Amino acid sequence: MNIKNYINGEFVNPVSKDWIDNFNPAKGEVYGQIPNSTKEDVENAYQAAADSFPKWSNTPLEDRSKILSKIANLILEKLDVLAIAESKDNGKPVNLAKTVDIPRAASNFQFFANAITQFSSEAHESVGLDAVNFTLRQPLGVVGCISPWNLPLYLFTWKIAPALAAGNCVVAKPSEVTPMTAYLLGEICNDAGLPKGVLNIVHGLGTTTGQAIVEHPNIKAISFTGGTKTGAHIARVAAPMFKKLSLELGGKNPNIIFADCDYNKMLETTVRSSFANQGQICLCGSRILVEEKIYERFKIDFIKKVKQLKVGHPSEESTDIGALVSKEHLEKIESYIEIAEDEGGKILCGGLEVTLPNYENGYYFQPTIIEVTNNQCKLNQEEIFGPVVTIMSFKTDEEALTLANDVKYGLSSTLWTNNLNRTMQFAKQLHTGIVWVNTWMLRDLRTPFGGAKESGVGREGGFEALRFFTEPKNVCIKYN
Ligand code: NAD
Repeated sequence: MNIKNYINGEFVNPVSKDWIDNFNPAKGEVYGQIPNSTKEDVENAYQAAADSFPKWSNTPLEDRSKILSKIANLILEKLDVLAIAESKDNGKPVNLAKTVDIPRAASNFQFFANAITQFSSEAHESVGLDAVNFTLRQPLGVVGCISPWNLPLYLFTWKIAPALAAGNCVVAKPSEVTPMTAYLLGEICNDAGLPKGVLNIVHGLGTTTGQAIVEHPNIKAISFTGGTKTGAHIARVAAPMFKKLSLELGGKNPNIIFADCDYNKMLETTVRSSFANQGQICLCGSRILVEEKIYERFKIDFIKKVKQLKVGHPSEESTDIGALVSKEHLEKIESYIEIAEDEGGKILCGGLEVTLPNYENGYYFQPTIIEVTNNQCKLNQEEIFGPVVTIMSFKTDEEALTLANDVKYGLSSTLWTNNLNRTMQFAKQLHTGIVWVNTWMLRDLRTPFGGAKESGVGREGGFEALRFFTEPKNVCIKYN
């Protein structure tokens, strides 16, 4: 199936008439093509967005809110179609798409449809000076949203929904590896009555289409989720134009397990936090740090559970681990197995590519656990972003904290303990944007989301996202 750009409410071919192959990773075969959009397509998308901005930014909040709510409802109505498309494009188990990715995309629209009606200006009376101040929160204009392949519609809409709710018009680019649900979103927006040009979706490569969005002199802000290297590049390109940037980048998240935790709950969640979506979630706990007292017991139980995970075709209901997103990504994961062997890591289970009957060309890999002893090894320092976790032991709280913080990333951390004092000490001292205690990936959409250190700059979620997509302007009125 060939997909098209969505510009000014119409589905259009790229100006260059140039196309890129789209792969189904479960079968390792081409199943369609996407536009290889260039600067001209981005310019057309920008013009449509700029023309729509005066009207959209003045549309009453209740009306904007109703349209966003309608989009949310239509996403839910099309849940099965979207989930199948997401699974085919990305390789993720269709069950995961049905229960997590697509419902969350709908929640993103519903949440910001509500949140915008609660997002009010601040006011301050300057007592004794006979003046009042109030702060207007005005939309920025045309903004750019660029998203990755791991949670395609989930992360795409996480940016678009607050941008639109706040009154901006958008030029958005999904990952070239997983464009399908973004394409279907265009149809949904038309059906929901989103005015033409308010949202424009251009497909193509990061280095051409994405770069053209970032370089566009009149696109006022870029909300980006993707790799740390790409984020740094975008920051360099955007800096001379003083663009507002929100960068949600890579992670190498510690999962810190103390002996006093609820063991069964921890074990079950740790399997999920290690291997959900084939380990391709920026929040996965890829470095498991275990208190020495329970290290051997945990190792045995964890290996046993992980060996029970079923690697299978993403469309099968019983599949736990689907396909990796691309051949390049599979090769990257394999390269880390070689690195582990060079670095003296001990492969406790997994470590091999899987060939499934009838899907011999698909990109499958066993869930893999590697025991390491040195935190400075590449396996513990670099983001692998696949079904590979490391485990190592620690003796004291201080050692656990030092190991947890001793990476350049700072996205999330998970702590397993029933000790309240320890919880607070770690919550204060872990250098990550998110700390989960006795849970993982529990998200309340009102809370700030984002990373510290090389995991990003800025926060998404709740009013933080609406603040990002608006410019505060203070008005001071002297009345006497
Ligand atoms: P990527 O950086 O390669 O690409 C992300 C997006 O940026 C894609 O749409 C791509 O086309 C585009 N892009 C690439 N080069 C560009 C350029 N020069 N200018 C503008 N756009 C460009 O990342 P990926 O491989 O798609 O995604 C995986 C990465 O995303 C991992 O590092 C993962 O940790 C990270 N991620 C972070 C979060 C978070 O919330 N922090 C969430 C999901 C994924």
